[in-house]
Amino acid sequence: MQPPKSAVCVICGCRPATTQDHVPPKGLFKGLATQLITVPACATCNNGSSSEDEDLRFYISMQVGKQTPGSAALWDQGAHKSLKRKTRLRTSVIATAREIRLTDARGECVSRLAVEVPAQTYQTVFERTTRGLYFHHTGKILPPSVSVEVAPLEGVPDVSSEELRLLQQHAIAGEACVYRFGIAEEQPESSLWLYGFYGTFWIMATTGDDTNTAL
Ligand SMILES: [Zn+2]
Repeated sequence: MQPPKSAVCVICGCRPATTQDHVPPKGLFKGLATQLITVPACATCNNGSSSEDEDLRFYISMQVGKQTPGSAALWDQGAHKSLKRKTRLRTSVIATAREIRLTDARGECVSRLAVEVPAQTYQTVFERTTRGLYFHHTGKILPPSVSVEVAPLEGVPDVSSEELRLLQQHAIAGEACVYRFGIAEEQPESSLWLYGFYGTFWIMATTGDDTNTAL
């Protein structure tokens, strides 16, 4: 299936699309040879959040650890370098780091270092990702007037639950990213998105006003 085309940027919905933007950002797949999803975007949207992309990669990498080749590459080839280079990121991490216990994808309790992810970081990155993937899957641009709310989840959501089993599931680079989404039939601007990285870091995005009717 050919990906849908658009002359207008599918992220901001207004400027001409002159580039192809990766959703989710390609920095999250460091060291993995894989086919990533791109969508038509303007240069402003494409380049506008590269600093947030890099910060988010660091936070995700820190939380998922280095147990698998993919997550180890994410840290060694990406996140660790960012931490050394970015003073602001380092200061924020040191100020908020704490140890937490959480349940991983295999149901085992693991210990992780958690840091507070600034809300603006994941809001910016996953609003862009959600608008991009919405277009990728529906061929329609989510209107700029429709809001996208992003919230990180603590622990692994119960994906065998009835509501979440109804969502379409997609994977990028195997374990690296699994995402699920559902779009309300009668209200196509209402949708719910669940992103999981390396089976450990989960984040949810909802679009439209009354998101409770999305499922
Ligand atoms: Zn744009």
